[in-house]
Parts: sequence; structure tokens; C-alpha cells
Amino acid sequence: MKFERTLAICLDMNGCPNRCLHCWLGDLPNHKLNDKTATKIVKLFKPYFENITFYSWLREPDFTKDYKARWLKDNKLSTIKPKRFELASYFTIIRDPEYVKWLKAVGTKKVQLTFFGLEAMTDKYVGRKGAYKELIAATKILQDNDIDVRWQLFINEENKDEVSHLLDVAAENKVTDIFVHEGSCDGNNRKLYDIRINKDNIPLKVKPYYLNYENLLSESECIELLKDDDSYFIPKHKDEIVIYITSDLNVYFNFTNPSAAWQIGNIEDDDISEIVRKIVAGDVPALKFARSILLSDLVKLYGDSNSDKVFSLEDYKMYLLNNYVDDKYNSKLQ
Ligand code: SF4
Repeated sequence: MKFERTLAICLDMNGCPNRCLHCWLGDLPNHKLNDKTATKIVKLFKPYFENITFYSWLREPDFTKDYKARWLKDNKLSTIKPKRFELASYFTIIRDPEYVKWLKAVGTKKVQLTFFGLEAMTDKYVGRKGAYKELIAATKILQDNDIDVRWQLFINEENKDEVSHLLDVAAENKVTDIFVHEGSCDGNNRKLYDIRINKDNIPLKVKPYYLNYENLLSESECIELLKDDDSYFIPKHKDEIVIYITSDLNVYFNFTNPSAAWQIGNIEDDDISEIVRKIVAGDVPALKFARSILLSDLVKLYGDSNSDKVFSLEDYKMYLLNNYVDDKYNSKLQ
């Protein structure tokens, strides 16, 4: 019997040119995978799911020289066609003049680009010299080809003044679709907890551009909301089930960062029927820990009621859970 829910497989076939300090995926290995591996993985899952959507990327989309052929192959491997979202590789935009024309041809209306401040700051956070100049150049190339541009600006205590200045740079570059946010607090961004932006320190000029500002909470406000919450925080899929497969063929859900406690299995080492069982049952160590502790207890263990650092409520729950998962998982390993 096949499961009715669609399985979306995101396979990290080509890695990413960047090493962002905020990356929620952490620092995944950049091995290249070939088409045979992609086909084999889809074949393994097909007997178990009514529908499969296959993506050959998990990080930078189209970060490969054969992006045109790859897109066709992704479509061919999928029974429900993959989406383009509003994403593209700015690395490829500025190196391959054909690419932007191809983006247009496959129906791309808008592309989102990510900044962390002005030149030195953005290069530092992307982990690559020249990234800021590429982002500015990519903005112009997209606009010249009638593709709209959205700028996503990540803010923290270190770059908050530069984010203010970036709003002027956006205006100079005729970019009006802009949003600012703090990012979730997992993966690499969790290591930046100490410089997470304080609610009171968000510059006045930035507030109109802040994502969902009216619902933004400080950590102390999150704690107030959760301190008597006797429910469990158990991340779940909505409609389709989405799995991430890294280039070392480890399989994860798309909740939070791909780390050992969240791992479902490995394509080479584990039997596919057992991997599918774990996917459907949510049987990974982290979710077992999630089912064993109330939110009110997580807050007692890991909340800082003096903190003004900003969170969305869901991101804060995940931050608390990951603290607990790390403590429990690491103590089990000892
Ligand atoms: S945030 Fe995106 S672009 Fe940056 S390292 Fe992670 S996957 Fe790559």
C-alpha cells in the first residue's frame, strides 16, 4: 500500500558557494552527486508514496553548470512537478549571461536576494569575498531582464546600523520589496544567540520593513506566554512530507537543522522500508525527546526571562527544544 501524502525529496547534489554565518542548515559537506544517485533515490521511495516531487538542491538552487538539463531531469523524476519558488543562484546570475534568460523562460517573476549589511559585513556573513558586489550586480541584471527583486535583510546586534543604511542602498537600486528579520535560532544562527537583536534596539527606520513586526516578541514575552503551557511542541509536516538528503546521503526531515538527533537514516546504510517507517512514524531521537517534555518545563530549563532578544513564538519553541535535544542526546552518547 502506498502513502497518499506526497513525498518531496530535496537532495543536496551540488552544495552551495556560500558559508553563511546564519545558515540554519549548518555547514553541510559540499560533495557532488551524480544523476545515477538521484534516480536511484527516487526509485527507492517510489513504491511507498503515491506522489514524489524531486528537487536536486537543498541549498543554492541551480548552482551547477548543467542547470537547464537538471531542471528537466528534476521534472522527469517527479510525479508532482517541482516549484521554482522565488529563488535563484546569484553566483550563476553574474557568471552565466544565459541563466537570467533561462530563469525568465521557466516563468520566474521574482528573485529574493539576501544581505547582511554593507560590503564588508555581507561578505563576512556570506563567507565569501565579493558576495555583496555580486548581489548588487545580480539586482541590476534581474531588473534589466524584467524580473522583480526582493531583498531579505538579516539583522542582529552587530549589523543593525548597517541594515538601516542598506535601506538607502535599496532605494538607490530601485528595490522597494524589502523585508528585515532575525532568522530562526537553529543551525549556525543559534551560535549567534549572544548577538541576537534586542527588541528595543531595532532601529526606528527599520521597523516598517520588519517582517510581522506586530507579532514580534522578546524572549521574556515568549516566556510569559509559555510558562504555563502544558502542551508538547512536536514539529509536524502540513500537507506534503519534505525530506532533506545531504550529500553524504543522510536523511532528515525539513524541521530545524540537520543534526545527529534529527537524523532519520542513511540511504546507503539503512533499509529503505525502515527509513520510510521512521518518516511516517516520526521516529527520530529528537521527536522522541519532544514528546517527553512540556513547553512549561522547557521554559524553566532554558528560558532567560531577562532577555529582550527577539523571536517569533514558533522559532522560540524550536530554540528551546533544540537545547533540550542537545542535552539529552549528548548525555545519551556519553
Ligand atoms: S543560508 Fe543559503 S546561501 Fe547561505 S550557506 Fe546556507 S544554503 Fe547556502
